Amino acid sequence: MYHHIKKLMFTVRVGTPEPRFGNMLLEQFGGANGELAAAMQYSIQGINCENMACKDLLMDIGTEELSHLEVIGTLARMHLKPMKKDADAAEHDPLIAIAGGGGVALCNSMGNAWTADYLKVTGELDVDLRSNIAAEARAKIVYERLINFCDDPDSKQALQFLMTREITHLRSFMQALDGLGKSALSIGAIPPTPGIVDHYLNASTGEGDEGENDFEAQWNTAEGIQVVETPALNEYQVLEATPKAGRTTLDGDKVEPSRTKAGTGKTGRKR
Ligand code: MN
Ligand code: MN
Repeated sequence: MYHHIKKLMFTVRVGTPEPRFGNMLLEQFGGANGELAAAMQYSIQGINCENMACKDLLMDIGTEELSHLEVIGTLARMHLKPMKKDADAAEHDPLIAIAGGGGVALCNSMGNAWTADYLKVTGELDVDLRSNIAAEARAKIVYERLINFCDDPDSKQALQFLMTREITHLRSFMQALDGLGKSALSIGAIPPTPGIVDHYLNASTGEGDEGENDFEAQWNTAEGIQVVETPALNEYQVLEATPKAGRTTLDGDKVEPSRTKAGTGKTGRKR
């Protein structure tokens, strides 16, 4: 059940309207990482959710995102409004100016229509929560870029508010995922194939034009990881992939033994 209250979650003010910036703001209104996409994704996941605690969380955040949609829509509208009568402003976006009268439309900053294809809804709670964590990170960085391109202090305040809430949501989804008590690599019910799951394929080799090279880090040095050097050149091929077998053409002494050196952490080091 939804009820609308005639009050914005954050009081929006705009000093000097900037139609071109209003156009950028549409990315968070009807864009891939925008507020409508977030509201729909979490609410629809919530409808499907059989874990009552997580359903509550999804509906809480999904509904809050609708309130964000109202804030970003109001802010965008304030910036776009001059397009209705000002020919110079209208040139920034003829579609918004002529077809929309300087109002917000459910499209992104390039005028592409919002689509349900933006939504990630799998019906598997932990998978959905991971999608949501990624979605919040994307929304955060888009707001940050908008703030960096914004000259109006009042608009920045609204964007700072919206950006901050995405971090709050990011934390909630991380806590919810953690609360499920699943190990990080446990997705679904069918186990991965032993052996194959631990192969690190060094499929990009050589020194590149920009000095890029092979690096050693956790992903190819952690205990149990088997590095397969230049798999294509060594005729690496998987012969079986049932959950209990994982034979490849390189099984046996051809595969290098596991590297057990500790990685250097965040950045890795050149090999
Ligand atoms: Mn939001
Ligand atoms: Mn959010």
